[in-house]
Amino acid sequence: MRPDLLNPPFRPVTSLAGIGPKLGETLGRLLDAPEGAEARVVDLLFHLPIGVIDRSRQPGIAASAEGTIVTLKVRVDRHAAPPRGNKRIPWRVFAHDDTGEIGLVFFHVKGDWLEKTLPVGATRYVSGAVEWFNGRPTMVHPDYIVAEEDFGSLPLIEPVYPMTANLSRKTLAKAISDALAHLPELPEWLDAALTEERGWPTFAAALVRIHHPESPAEFEEEAPHVARLAYDELLARQLALSLMREHQRRSIGQARRGDGRIRAKLLAALPFTLTQSQTAALADIEADIGQPERMLRLLQGDVGSGKTVVALLAAANVIEAGAQAAIMAPTELLARQHARTIQPLAEAAGVRMAVLTGRERGKERDTIVAGLADGSIDLLLGTHALFQAGVDFRDLALVVVDEQHRFGVHQRLALTAKGGATDVLVMTATPIPRTLVLTYYGDMDVSRLTEKPAGRRPIDTRAIPLDRLEEVVARVRDAIADGAKAYWVCPLVEESELLDVAAAEERFSMLTEELGPVVGLVHGRMKPAERDAVMARFVAGDVRVLVATTVVEVGVDVSDATIIVIEHAERFGLAQLHQLRGRVGRSDRPSVCLLLYKPPLGPIARDRLAIMRETNDGFRIAEEDLKLRGGGEILGTRQSGMPGFRIADLTRHADLMELARDDARLVVATDPNLTTTRGEALRMLLYLFGRDEAIRLLRAG
Ligand code: ADP
Ligand code: MG
Repeated sequence: MRPDLLNPPFRPVTSLAGIGPKLGETLGRLLDAPEGAEARVVDLLFHLPIGVIDRSRQPGIAASAEGTIVTLKVRVDRHAAPPRGNKRIPWRVFAHDDTGEIGLVFFHVKGDWLEKTLPVGATRYVSGAVEWFNGRPTMVHPDYIVAEEDFGSLPLIEPVYPMTANLSRKTLAKAISDALAHLPELPEWLDAALTEERGWPTFAAALVRIHHPESPAEFEEEAPHVARLAYDELLARQLALSLMREHQRRSIGQARRGDGRIRAKLLAALPFTLTQSQTAALADIEADIGQPERMLRLLQGDVGSGKTVVALLAAANVIEAGAQAAIMAPTELLARQHARTIQPLAEAAGVRMAVLTGRERGKERDTIVAGLADGSIDLLLGTHALFQAGVDFRDLALVVVDEQHRFGVHQRLALTAKGGATDVLVMTATPIPRTLVLTYYGDMDVSRLTEKPAGRRPIDTRAIPLDRLEEVVARVRDAIADGAKAYWVCPLVEESELLDVAAAEERFSMLTEELGPVVGLVHGRMKPAERDAVMARFVAGDVRVLVATTVVEVGVDVSDATIIVIEHAERFGLAQLHQLRGRVGRSDRPSVCLLLYKPPLGPIARDRLAIMRETNDGFRIAEEDLKLRGGGEILGTRQSGMPGFRIADLTRHADLMELARDDARLVVATDPNLTTTRGEALRMLLYLFGRDEAIRLLRAG
């Protein structure tokens, strides 16, 4: 049971004053609330700024530099309304201070509102970006206009948050402030000696500070409040992992041994032979399955290294022994993709397979659920969500969790908490450097797929400046005339999903004009069914160029796609570029990756693109990535931080990772059921960071 003290932060956002169902829905979208559920106050609290806008500069009109954000105290002189009916001409308001005159420019704004907001003769503070045209300063749509006496309401250091459609900055800021007011002072879960030594504030104080920064620099710095929250986040994860490991150790598994009959049929049905590392990984897995201890193994392998086949053969092993297996994917799309690959093989080997996602409903779903319960289904493919839905198996011996590029401690915990003698194999396509495996996965056994299946050719990677776009389009045109398929990736700027979608739409219409009706578009704001339809047309070949924002699932397997164009490649991190590139090079035909960049390149971006050109080896790229970041790359925004973490960041908090791991191990060794005073407080930490599945392990004890 969650402690009552935590009730306020776990209420839905609509419990806050001024947040109705409609705004609640918008916030749900912004905060990634699970389908059918509302976002909670705690989700708002952890919606952290990705930067700050410094409005503290007040240089006066004449000394306001082009393109900078300033706050000006001005007196309003006159309004120049556009001619009636002409919507293209803006409404201008002229104002001055001691140093000069400025034009405030407004498009599509109601005049009477403007006359009320900026009455002639009044003094106002305006804040926004200044632009100079022909020697005259202007400010287009000031971000803030406040009366003299309301100066205090103007955020001079304004946090910038990831946004979504139909949400204003002010509304979000107010919601977050209210959420902060609902956060109780909580008992300290950190070791007193540690907080004292580091000068860390309390959890609540740290959260307040991160949302209300006091100087523009502190966001970037090793500020104690940021470090505190990062440590909390790392500790919650390490503690959950340690508890999971401990639970696994204590619970008795079951040794299973297959006789190889299904495996032989599968191998015969495969149009290829296994690579050496596939064979080695399988041997590891089968040895684990044959032991009475429960397996907890990580299978690391680049995109395209052939993990699915390994998963299937592992499943065969337990099915031969009369038990069941499940393969879980992070999205429905990927679950169905696995199903397409596995179906014919399963059929050839006499494995009874079913697919269960959110889409199967009613009778169909009932039949599958019954089949799992009575054992007439051997192998289930589905989404992670499935496990929350309370599906029961007759004898589930193996669960394969395909995490792709996510880091779902949560799902793994849920599985572990289910008890039973289930072996767990986690598959990831993120080639995490060895030094980081512990951070993400805790003490797991690891198998690695290090080679690409035979016949694969390395992807020819080129970096091309954006001003040669036409050449790139011509190249794509030639290639599709030869029957090729291409991805065209538009980057994601987290601040505004809407702008990203707009950029992708623009590229889509430009390419449609250039190439004809063979271009498709997928992005994160489409309904899943629409998106699936476009994907299906790409698979079928009616669509030959797929324009996509990166929100679209990586790992999509269209093996005859041989070109990928990545726009604004300089904005992506190495790991992300590598993941994207992995969508091509999946057949024996030569593939090309064109990295379009906007010059001039900074030194780090240049190094990144050079590494991409040089190597196709994911593990090597991951190591280089770590070096580049360690080498002082300034990570201004969270999106380039560590995947799977909101606050913790590789470059800034490397020392904290080790510390959190040791801390967690010590806690589990000395207080395995979290019953001491600190243990009780640590339970709250687990709740706050969504790791409370681990608490179920305690009770299951
Ligand atoms: P991953 O899940 O690791 O990204 P997949 O399992 O989807 O990779 O495999 C990618 C492709 O490679 C699939 O089409 C699969 O059939 C094929 N494949 C897997 N193993 C081999 C192999 N040993 N030789 C040739 N092709 C293989
Ligand atoms: Mg895969």
